[in-house]
Amino acid sequence: MRVEGVRGMRDILPEETLLWQNLEAEIRTAFSLYGYGEIRVPLVERVELFSRGVGEETEVVDKQMYVFPDRKGLQLALRPEATASVVRAYVEHGLYARGDLAKLYYLGPMFRYEKPQLGRQRQFHQYGVEAIGSLDPALDAEVMDLAWHLMERLLVREPSSEVRDPELRDEPTANGPRSTDHGLLLRVNSIGCRDDRPAYREALRGYFAAHEEELCPECRRRLATNPLRILDCKEERCRTLSRGAPRSVDHLCPSCRQHFADVQANLQALGLAHELDPTLVRGLDYYTRTVFELCSRDLGAQDALLGGGRYDGLVELLGGPPTPAVGFAGGMERLVIVVSAHHGATEASEPALDLYLVPIGDEARREGAKLMAALRRSGISADTDYMGRSVRKAMTVAGRSARYAAILGQNELARGEIKLKDLASGEEKGIGLAELVTSPHSFVR
Ligand SMILES: [Zn+2]
Ligand SMILES: [Zn+2]
Repeated sequence: MRVEGVRGMRDILPEETLLWQNLEAEIRTAFSLYGYGEIRVPLVERVELFSRGVGEETEVVDKQMYVFPDRKGLQLALRPEATASVVRAYVEHGLYARGDLAKLYYLGPMFRYEKPQLGRQRQFHQYGVEAIGSLDPALDAEVMDLAWHLMERLLVREPSSEVRDPELRDEPTANGPRSTDHGLLLRVNSIGCRDDRPAYREALRGYFAAHEEELCPECRRRLATNPLRILDCKEERCRTLSRGAPRSVDHLCPSCRQHFADVQANLQALGLAHELDPTLVRGLDYYTRTVFELCSRDLGAQDALLGGGRYDGLVELLGGPPTPAVGFAGGMERLVIVVSAHHGATEASEPALDLYLVPIGDEARREGAKLMAALRRSGISADTDYMGRSVRKAMTVAGRSARYAAILGQNELARGEIKLKDLASGEEKGIGLAELVTSPHSFVR
């Protein structure tokens, strides 16, 4: 009986995981450069973490969350995002008691019951950072600079390579915006604090109520419950209407207005080109003040590479002391698509193995097994044929999977030698088996 995988839950095979690993390594490096440490939170949480933290009225919680009872009837959810979990962990472990900014990052799978399409799966993967414990507008700008730097690393140079092509690299200039040649666009907005929300909500309600017939049925419902959510409706008619809607930046209290002005001044100082997008609100209820998205012009303006913002009320909402925070998250699947488009198929061109052993005869196979065991312990990757292939066919496999072929026949064995063939140049030479074992790196480079 063949059991199929679940719709929207995709297998990622070794040809593709190589790129994933490279991207993940770059992400970890970038996050570390900005002082973040990794946190690993569970995939499963109590359902109320998300209904309270992310918001009952959000599409994510209302329509897309995987909810199930465990065997004792406790209602659980597969995490649809990680910020609520990170904040729960922050509160649960009393990290606020350290009196310092907590800089945490994560990488991992998330789950949302959506219609699967290119770059959108039901099990999808996110990377993100959370900086918890400061309201400093310079921190908002630093988080956006990290997002920008990360995309520069991934899109401007080869993810797996340490070598930078000076032609492709643009130095940050001391004054004025950095070049946006690689098509990055930072969109920012401020949606104010909780105290600003009621007046803004009423302004939106007044505006959309006057156009009620033009709204989609879902947004007509949102009009009563949470008119802010109309601004991130994906229906074209709602989007059109949203463009003329009252702007959150016109409904900020003096301290939020000052905060946003300072954020923008800091972005300016860092040379990050940004534009104000008054309809940007993000789809989750916990956001306050700064919200942002980093987009690639190549993807079209609607498609953000990553997005984030402040969530100054979430720690308190989840039982901790009042604690401001800011972060972002991005999707791995989208990144894989964008990076593959930028770099073409160059990722797969490097052979996976250092050496492929081609033994001839049973004794050579046994000696070869010992040789490979020794080489692997010296950090040289090695493999051989287990499919009973002929020497000629084994050489073909070597040619597409390794940098060197090592041929071990009866004659070589009798002399205590092995024939090493550089598969790129075709150059062959006999070397002593003992020599290869004691100093393998002088032969396999
Ligand atoms: Zn405010
Ligand atoms: Zn709508």
